Amino acid sequence: MSKCDIIQKDTGYACKRCAKVWAVGSGARECSMDHLMVDLETLGNGPRSVITQIGACYFNMDGEVGAKFEANINIQSALDVGLIIDGDTIKWWFDQPNPTWLKDTDKIVKVLSRFGQFCHGVKHVWSHATFDMPIIFNAYRECDVKIPFHYRTPRDIRTLTWLHGGDYKELKKRFPQENKHDALSDCLHQVKYVSHCYKDIKK
Ligand SMILES: [Zn+2]
Repeated sequence: MSKCDIIQKDTGYACKRCAKVWAVGSGARECSMDHLMVDLETLGNGPRSVITQIGACYFNMDGEVGAKFEANINIQSALDVGLIIDGDTIKWWFDQPNPTWLKDTDKIVKVLSRFGQFCHGVKHVWSHATFDMPIIFNAYRECDVKIPFHYRTPRDIRTLTWLHGGDYKELKKRFPQENKHDALSDCLHQVKYVSHCYKDIKK
């Protein structure tokens, strides 16, 4: 556990990670939200892929969720900085119902800057690390925006679930999900089974 990461809001103070709000004058609080879950929606599988959506949430290993982040990226702005699209992924997206990343998009540089502020100082960054991490590191480099987390912080979901044992697909099915292939919804789903596996292993 660490102390809450306090930011000033219009209405008082809030912790950047656990999203708890309080009035001026109360002391520093213990914060359990040391972990960040990250998920990307992309137009390719390779490290130079266009990112269309970034989802993230702070969480702890009791499966509680803190502050959330979701932003959609303008595809042309990603192409303009040199990111690429893969034909097979486009074909795959045509078979997915109602992608949530088409509306309310922002330029990639703006989204990466905002996401950088959101996750600055985080200790453990969870994702499907061999997929999401190379893509997001590359996007930060191409946009010339400072990469917001240290190379020592990534934690891999697949390694954890492999250590836990059992079938990965079966494990995911045990925890229901609302909106598949929406980055934030995927994050909330991943928090459920990551915290479950972590607790099982730590027993
Ligand atoms: Zn906090």
